[in-house]
Amino acid sequence: MAKKKLVKRSWAEPYKIKMVEPIKMTTRAQREKAIKAAGYNTFLLKSEDVYIDLLTDSGTNAMSDYQWSGMMLGDEAYAGSKNFYYLWDNVKRYYGFKYFVPTHQGRAAEHLISKILIKPGDFIPGNMYFTTTKLHQELAGGTFVDVIIDEAHQPQNTHPFKGNIDLQKLEDLIKKVGPKKIPYISMAGPVNMAGGQPFSMKNLKAVRKLADKYGVKMWLDATRITENAYFIKIREKGYKTKSIAAIIKEICSHFEGIWVSAKKDLMVNIGGFLATNNKRVFNEARNMVVIYEGLHTYGGLAGRDMEAMARGIEEMVNYDNIHARVGQIEYFGHRLMEYDIPIVLPIGGHAIFLDAKKFLPHIKQDQFPAQALAAEIYVDSGVRGMERGIVSAGRDKKTGKHIYPNLELVRLTFPRRVYTQAHIDVTFESIVEVYDRRKKITGLKMVYEPKYLRFFQARFKKL
Ligand SMILES: *Cc1c(COP(=O)(O)O)cnc(C)c1O
Repeated sequence: MAKKKLVKRSWAEPYKIKMVEPIKMTTRAQREKAIKAAGYNTFLLKSEDVYIDLLTDSGTNAMSDYQWSGMMLGDEAYAGSKNFYYLWDNVKRYYGFKYFVPTHQGRAAEHLISKILIKPGDFIPGNMYFTTTKLHQELAGGTFVDVIIDEAHQPQNTHPFKGNIDLQKLEDLIKKVGPKKIPYISMAGPVNMAGGQPFSMKNLKAVRKLADKYGVKMWLDATRITENAYFIKIREKGYKTKSIAAIIKEICSHFEGIWVSAKKDLMVNIGGFLATNNKRVFNEARNMVVIYEGLHTYGGLAGRDMEAMARGIEEMVNYDNIHARVGQIEYFGHRLMEYDIPIVLPIGGHAIFLDAKKFLPHIKQDQFPAQALAAEIYVDSGVRGMERGIVSAGRDKKTGKHIYPNLELVRLTFPRRVYTQAHIDVTFESIVEVYDRRKKITGLKMVYEPKYLRFFQARFKKL
């Protein structure tokens, strides 16, 4: 008999390390200098000054040997490369759409969709905004309307599907502006800005029923759909024995089309696409992509990029892979919860979100508590996260004033297949130490503000 009784059996990653990338270790003094030079904006840090980079999981994933070997098979023809056709086949097979247009990343697909479907004066209801999605909808003349359930705005609410759409809010909007003014319902899952929260299949079916009643179309931001499918499998009745692939296919079957940033689920470093069953939209997108991206058989990508994407789709539906990804984030979240660090609950699919309002209650929201906290964590340990609060929310289009979101968060996002459990422990320990001296942390003043997506390039000074 062992000395102690085993309480559980652990899982581990379904892969091992074949190549390593050294990272620079810095001193506190070096980091203080670096964050000041970056205007207290973690987006403006040099990556070589970062130890553990949890800024984003976008394009920062580790590709597999299967994907890397596919890169050697890039057919770099200007037109009709074989990698394009392989990728198209996989989009048909796994997402279930007939037509497909590649783009260099997700926002390029959002640009095309918004331009094609939205007329000035239209309204686009969605389950909470995403920065680039909303901006493209507004540049096309539309107004985004948040119709997510109220629970999504409450960081400590443990509703299992905080990405759900509030049917009443949606129907009220349709009745108020009329279905003709709604080009499509814009759904995403899991909802990044709410803390990586999924929608349920039950809610999706109910939204579809309502949409059908008024003849409104539905489009999906399927960028993180593997994580949403995983949560449906784990949390929703009737899906335990269904495969991730079958759940993704079922989700997509409710939409006229999707757009995707391949830099997330597909575990590549660059890429995106749109896919639809609507031939008219396809023809327009295929024509327009030539103006902004490149010919419709490469859309701003190299043949090798499309090969890595096609192979990434095959890997993303692997249950063990997505289980390990979400499991890593749950491990981190549970460690923080042991120490009562305020985080958004339930633990999301791609990141841990620190609740900066609770973490730093002495800093007023217009002194950017989440921005200050992200900077402080970087100085403590070289871990880089990002602000998802008042800076990200931007200004009201009409009044020009800050939008004050309920959620004032620091996002710590995990690239897929990149960091180990020891990296997570180091990060967790740093956050606990910062928490213990949180009363000494001061707010910030914005000293430079760009016009669009200000969080990327805004600069701050310490108060
Ligand atoms: C990343 C992301 C986008 C934008 O995609 P890019 O590839 O960064 O242009 C759009 N929607 C969601 C949900 C995303 O996560």
